[in-house]
Amino acid sequence: MRMYDIILKKRDGGELSPEEIAFFVKGYTDGSIPDYQASALTMAIFYKGMTEAETVCLTQEMAQSGDQIDLSRFGDLTVDKHSTGGVGDKTTLIVAPTVASLGGKLAKMSGRGLGHTGGTVDKLESIDGYNTTLKAEEFFAQVEKVGISVIGQSGNLTPADKKLYALRDVTATVDSIPLITSSIMSKKIAAGSKNIVLDVKCGSGAFMKTLADAEILAENMVKIGKGCGRNIAAVISDMDVPLGENVGNALEVIEAIDVLKGNKKGDLYEVCTALATQMISLTLSLDPDKAKQMVVGAIEDGSAFNKMKEWVAAQGGNANMLDNVSLFKNAEIVYEIKSEQSGFVSQMDAAEIGNAACILGAGRASKDDVIDFAAGIVIKKKVGDEVKIGETLAVLYTNKKEAVEPASKRYLEAIKISKEKTQRNPLIYKIVR
Ligand code: URA
Repeated sequence: MRMYDIILKKRDGGELSPEEIAFFVKGYTDGSIPDYQASALTMAIFYKGMTEAETVCLTQEMAQSGDQIDLSRFGDLTVDKHSTGGVGDKTTLIVAPTVASLGGKLAKMSGRGLGHTGGTVDKLESIDGYNTTLKAEEFFAQVEKVGISVIGQSGNLTPADKKLYALRDVTATVDSIPLITSSIMSKKIAAGSKNIVLDVKCGSGAFMKTLADAEILAENMVKIGKGCGRNIAAVISDMDVPLGENVGNALEVIEAIDVLKGNKKGDLYEVCTALATQMISLTLSLDPDKAKQMVVGAIEDGSAFNKMKEWVAAQGGNANMLDNVSLFKNAEIVYEIKSEQSGFVSQMDAAEIGNAACILGAGRASKDDVIDFAAGIVIKKKVGDEVKIGETLAVLYTNKKEAVEPASKRYLEAIKISKEKTQRNPLIYKIVR
């Protein structure tokens, strides 16, 4: 078999065979196929697309390109969620203990973040003592006992995707539906859970800017997940406006605690209960209405919050911080951004608000940057809210004096205030199952 013929076939709109896809994935991972041929193929896929059978095959080959986590000891109760990413997205911190408190098993390896704020494991590390590097047997034992463990990615999961994603990044081939689908789904398949819920974000702070694109991606990922033998659903949710009010690592954990204690409703609560409902419905084979009742009940009766404390304590973290959030590290500088006009907040550029948080120290611009857990933003006015001159739009938290002025300028540029009240977009656009 020759890579040249595979490129030619796809360039001319042909359907690649399983053998051809396997040849490409193996050869590219072991270095025998060079970058220039792999980039020619990804560009051909970008233009000609892939059939469902080709995408399933590419996904499985990439999932099998490295280590795969075997969660079969937990039967069919294993459940995972994936978010396509967004600003203020702390849903895992809420959804995971809620679902575990109802019997789901969450053995989750989560990423660190590049960009606005850290990833889930960075956020968890803002809790003193929380250990994100458990050994495999400790990880599985905790999932067995507590129902949940979240650690950082380790081992050699989907090396084919790591290489291919880096190549796509520099060859303008990231935004191809079959390539995004196989990239995301290969990681989920290798991570081993039987049930998967995808949170596909749509809007200014998301990877998919329009609902039409988000729908195509969600439908495709659900099809491919089923083709790989998983129970799967996707929730398409809005990311035109940051989710919740807090953006930044410790700040997001504190907000998640508030939701888990039942003290905070609003957009974050709505998206989390929608995700947890789908997770419970798939995992326990329940009608979504019944699953929703259970999810809401777990938050109201305290079992979701108690599960978070049990999880954090099991993983070495100081669970007292969850009862007393003043124990989280405080920022030295607290700066209120005041409105210079009256009206209604009519637009927020979620990605730019994320960038303002990053300037304050909440995120990493490059891989080796150190995150300041205390840094971030608390948003006081969101789309649809009335604001008067001099009222606080947002509060900035940082330990870098020089960051206040550029972050506050960036924040003000990211929001629009109009005379007329604007309605927010729907929070949940669609559930795909
Ligand atoms: N996220 C991924 O993991 N892969 C893609 O291709 C795009 C977004």
